[in-house]
Amino acid sequence: MTWPQFEQLLKPTQYTAEDRDCVKRAFGFAERAHYGQKRATGEPYFNHILAVASAVVALGLDGDAVCAALLHDSIEDRGISKADIQKEFGGNVAFLVEGVSKVNKIKYHGAARRVESLRKMFLAVAEDVRVVLIKLCDRLNNMRTISVLPPEKRDRIALETLEVYAPLAYRLGIGELKGELQDLAFPILYPDEYQWIQREVAERVPEGKRYLEQVRPMLEGALQKDGVVPIKIDFRQKFLYSLWQKLMRYEMNFGRITDLLAMRIIVRDVEDCYKTLGIIHSLWKPLPGRIKDYIALPKPNGYRSLHTTVFCLEGKVTEIQIRTPEMHDEAEHGIAAHWAYEESGKPKTGIRADHPKLAWVRQLENWQSEIGSAAEGEAFLESLKIDFFKDRIFVLTPTGEVIDMPDGSTPIDFAYHIHSQIGDHMMGAKVNNKMVPLSHTLSTGDTVQILTQKNKQPSPDWMNIARTSNAKSKIRSALKRQEELAGRIDPKSSGKAGRRKNKNSPRP
Ligand code: MN
Repeated sequence: MTWPQFEQLLKPTQYTAEDRDCVKRAFGFAERAHYGQKRATGEPYFNHILAVASAVVALGLDGDAVCAALLHDSIEDRGISKADIQKEFGGNVAFLVEGVSKVNKIKYHGAARRVESLRKMFLAVAEDVRVVLIKLCDRLNNMRTISVLPPEKRDRIALETLEVYAPLAYRLGIGELKGELQDLAFPILYPDEYQWIQREVAERVPEGKRYLEQVRPMLEGALQKDGVVPIKIDFRQKFLYSLWQKLMRYEMNFGRITDLLAMRIIVRDVEDCYKTLGIIHSLWKPLPGRIKDYIALPKPNGYRSLHTTVFCLEGKVTEIQIRTPEMHDEAEHGIAAHWAYEESGKPKTGIRADHPKLAWVRQLENWQSEIGSAAEGEAFLESLKIDFFKDRIFVLTPTGEVIDMPDGSTPIDFAYHIHSQIGDHMMGAKVNNKMVPLSHTLSTGDTVQILTQKNKQPSPDWMNIARTSNAKSKIRSALKRQEELAGRIDPKSSGKAGRRKNKNSPRP
């Protein structure tokens, strides 16, 4: 793709002349930065950059985000510094590019208990929702070419996509992207199941489509008779991974799946949505309990539509979804749709999770809302609000494992969190490859490396530096052991007392 072709994607209504100029310079900059670089597939690396930037444009993100997408791999891979980007493209673009690079340092190791921390860290490190969206577009393109990677790496990335990226896309309200990411990971992680589902679906879809083609004119006629002019009537096919998830809940019984295909009606406004629902229900009897009003009660991720399931033509159970063009756009673009509509055009400050218009994004914190009752979910959200972002930091081990710790933690707390032996023999610490004093306050995104020495022992003033009760109690035990040892050398003094005290204190 050449610059004139890329420029075609930038609608003048959304991107100012200033935006286009910046994007053009970023285009040239990235083209030079990745010159001669190849992907694992053998194609030019710049193709990947363009695919990511095009996806970011399709999501409707602002000019800064498009520039950042073009530059997203230049800091890491091509030895260009944040200062270079800042000089050329300004602070906002540099901030976004740096955000993507920071997120890239997080590695997923597939340990279930870490998944929650990892998702939260992802958000904390990204700082700006646009960074998350650029990363999602990056991952989408990487998933499309994943088959060329060695199996081990391929599986790790696919699992990470399923457990971290797809839930993120869902949380940001981008249903399409969530479905695509899952369906790209599905054949890699569960090849047999994928093939089975694909065969079953291929058998059913053509007939289903023929059936809905018969229903469509009946629906159109009924709507028009009552003065509703549909903008569009079509159908959507359920994503395969989500179908599989549902089948597992239904004992793999395909007969119980009623929404493999669903009719989708787009009408002018909310009033027409409800009118359409009424017309459908007067035509075909609805299944009890299957009418869902996500307009009055949107999903936590912002999704709005009316859903109903009816005994349709020939009594066949059929799902119908009704929405306005705006709701449709939101369902496809999620959070991005919210600021594409912003009056002033482009927010200068960047979209953060605490942006007042995006209150529901704060529910990102509530990763477990799908599990447990609504009341439990709410309580959980409350408990997270106290901790999340404000009181927690997410730091990395040198291998990229995420460690979730209270704000204000020091390298001493980190060392004891990893293992009491590491803490006890700690002699120094490096944060982001630089030596720091033990009292250094860690921040989110830091990579922390603890240097140990066999004969090193905790010193009493560590008690004043450590912040976590875990580290403090372990330091206390270590100091007591030292005391005890000293006591043994001089048996008449502290030995006995030390031992007695030890009995009541918690084991390290
Ligand atoms: Mn990339």
